[in-house]
Amino acid sequence: MTVSQKIIEQTDKYGAKNYNPLPIVISEAEGVWVKDPEGNKYMDMLSAYSAVNQGHRHPHIIKALKDQADRATLTSRAFHNDQLGPWYEKVSKLTGKNMVLPMNTGAEAVETAFKAARRWAYDVKGVQEGKAEVIVCNGNFHGRTMTAVSMTSDPEYKRGFGPLLPGIVHIPYGDLDAFKEAVNENTAAIILEPIQGEAGIIIPPEGFLKGIREVCTEKNVLFIADEIQAGLARTGKMFACDWEGVKPDMYIMGKALGGGVLPISCVAADEDILGVFNPGSHGSTFGGNPMACAVSIAALEVLEDEHLAERAQELGEYFMGELKKIDNKEIKEVRGRGLFIGVELHGEARPYCEQLKELGLLCKETHDTVIRFAPPLIITKEELDWALGKIREVFAA
Ligand code: PLP
Repeated sequence: MTVSQKIIEQTDKYGAKNYNPLPIVISEAEGVWVKDPEGNKYMDMLSAYSAVNQGHRHPHIIKALKDQADRATLTSRAFHNDQLGPWYEKVSKLTGKNMVLPMNTGAEAVETAFKAARRWAYDVKGVQEGKAEVIVCNGNFHGRTMTAVSMTSDPEYKRGFGPLLPGIVHIPYGDLDAFKEAVNENTAAIILEPIQGEAGIIIPPEGFLKGIREVCTEKNVLFIADEIQAGLARTGKMFACDWEGVKPDMYIMGKALGGGVLPISCVAADEDILGVFNPGSHGSTFGGNPMACAVSIAALEVLEDEHLAERAQELGEYFMGELKKIDNKEIKEVRGRGLFIGVELHGEARPYCEQLKELGLLCKETHDTVIRFAPPLIITKEELDWALGKIREVFAA
């Protein structure tokens, strides 16, 4: 029995079965490459669902981690720490918003946005207590907490978890008219992904985000963009909303905010919105801890200094162009922005992911029929060409 087989057996024996991973154990990782305990090398084309945009163990981020580990790791928010202020300033300048609230995981940041929207509706907009509504889009993925599963339209994500949160209204993704119809005097916010990731890299029709912005401004409704997966350079812009030149009222960020090293997430908005929180109304023991803040500053520096958004755009165009040339009747559509690419098949995507794994390329199906290609943004053209060779091989039949 190999070390990998032993570890998989142990994992299966003791772990809850809430994931269905490909049978590969990663024990080392650097840049776009990972290795299993037997020394086999694979290219990572998933980037931990876009948390590793900067590449595995980026030296600048690892240095920040090690330096900070030698100074202070956790203070709680009962006291100030010397990394939180500089990190606030960095995120504020990045988003153009004057207030930032740190959490750890993406789902916690979504919770934060949801709570902020409801309290804003009552305290600022003047919605009658208990009546606030939040509009969400079918096909969304905002995480796994009760709020997030209350927002989902996927029966499997919510089965057996009820009663769900009230005050949530669903509209079809990309349907501006449906949004206009759904808005009323109790509407606090719309929460949406500017590109839906888990749904299979779904890009809304041109003008949708702009339209949402206009209606939100006109009707005094908050536009909350969940940029957890699509944001931070993945799509070829710092934020996916930038594709339509749109500024939401609130950004939700996570994943690559911690450079694939530590969990850190946040919401960023102006004081007239985030100012609704007062001491005691929201918080997190680990949120804003000095380790995560130091790592996150370095992670954002890498995105900027290495121009990873521009890189994602340029390489993404090339990669997608080459994928579109593959002639196989199993392929229904190739779509994406930057290095956030989905190949939709007529049938199951999993067998193709398994074959690609055998050839040394790791990717994962999403929603059964879509292969998502989302490599670290530091990938080179030569490495993409290597991947294209493997993908062509699998689709050669
Ligand atoms: N929102 C979006 C758009 C996501 O893609 C994800 C994770 O895939 C989340 C929220 C949840 O983030 P986390 O898994 O860190 O809680």
